[in-house]
Amino acid sequence: MKRILLLHTGGTISMSTDQRTGAVKPSGEHPLHKYSHLFEENLQIIEEDILQLPSPHVTPSDMLTIQKRLERAEQDGQIDGAVITHGTDTLEETAYFLDLTVNTSFPVVLTGAMRPVDELGSDGISNLQNAIWTALSNEATDKGVLVVMNEEIHSARYVTKTHTTNVATFRTPTFGPIGIVSKHEVRFFQKLVFYEHYPVNQISSNVCLLKSYAGMDSTLFEALLDKDIDGLVIEALGAGNLPPATLPGLKKLLERNIPVVITSRAFNGIAQDIYAYTGGGKHLKELGVIFAPGLSGIKARIKLLILLEQKLDSEQLNMIFRQ
Ligand code: ASP
Repeated sequence: MKRILLLHTGGTISMSTDQRTGAVKPSGEHPLHKYSHLFEENLQIIEEDILQLPSPHVTPSDMLTIQKRLERAEQDGQIDGAVITHGTDTLEETAYFLDLTVNTSFPVVLTGAMRPVDELGSDGISNLQNAIWTALSNEATDKGVLVVMNEEIHSARYVTKTHTTNVATFRTPTFGPIGIVSKHEVRFFQKLVFYEHYPVNQISSNVCLLKSYAGMDSTLFEALLDKDIDGLVIEALGAGNLPPATLPGLKKLLERNIPVVITSRAFNGIAQDIYAYTGGGKHLKELGVIFAPGLSGIKARIKLLILLEQKLDSEQLNMIFRQ
């Protein structure tokens, strides 16, 4: 008999609709408790409500709680796969945090729902079923942490929520999903070319994320100088460029040896140092920023939080982000 560890953390998948007001809110008993045993014969599901949070309330320390539970499962050696249900708003951040910090011999799959279980066409139960099937698949091992939503399998590193309400919200820009769940069949079509794992026992740093815009100046950078920040990620313009008026503030942060990581605010493609004009990627690189090709701003922030715990120098940070 196979064994799946099913960790519930909250989110719409755990909520129901107030029939009077239409508001979606946490319900008493997790609505999936009564479904999860129905999916497979010869399957034991060990179900735990490890957190009960709407995902905008989830913090890196909650992510660490999930990571520690998965590590304990690995040490116990009794589990064939783990499925984590999670609110979709920050699901991609928790998924990537686990991808970078957990190295289990069994698949780890995150899923959620865009519609509560009592809404017409709710996706929660089918997403859970597909996530369990994926976690049971032999092919799902050694593929990093996976996100299964709307019959697609995505790698945690690149998946992102793209729509506020549509059930087809999770997408992987640039590469697409790495597999699909078609009825009962789990099929993979791609695999990432490398995986990375870092040991982490705490998250003690404060890393902020800024989005750039036309006409941006140094106001926000100057404001950060008064705060106790350990790192900054900027979603820069296009391939990785900033307006010239941001440079005075940016330079002051760099002079304080605060690592500044550049991603793109564009939805698709990778950030690179291409342009040599003032504030262009080449200029920013000369000033000492770190480029994170391929990562979104929120993923780069999770990575920087974890790397800051490794006590690396700026050359090592540069090298790791370049991968
Ligand atoms: N706001 C909800 C959450 O992230 C959305 C969802 O779960 O789909 O908790």
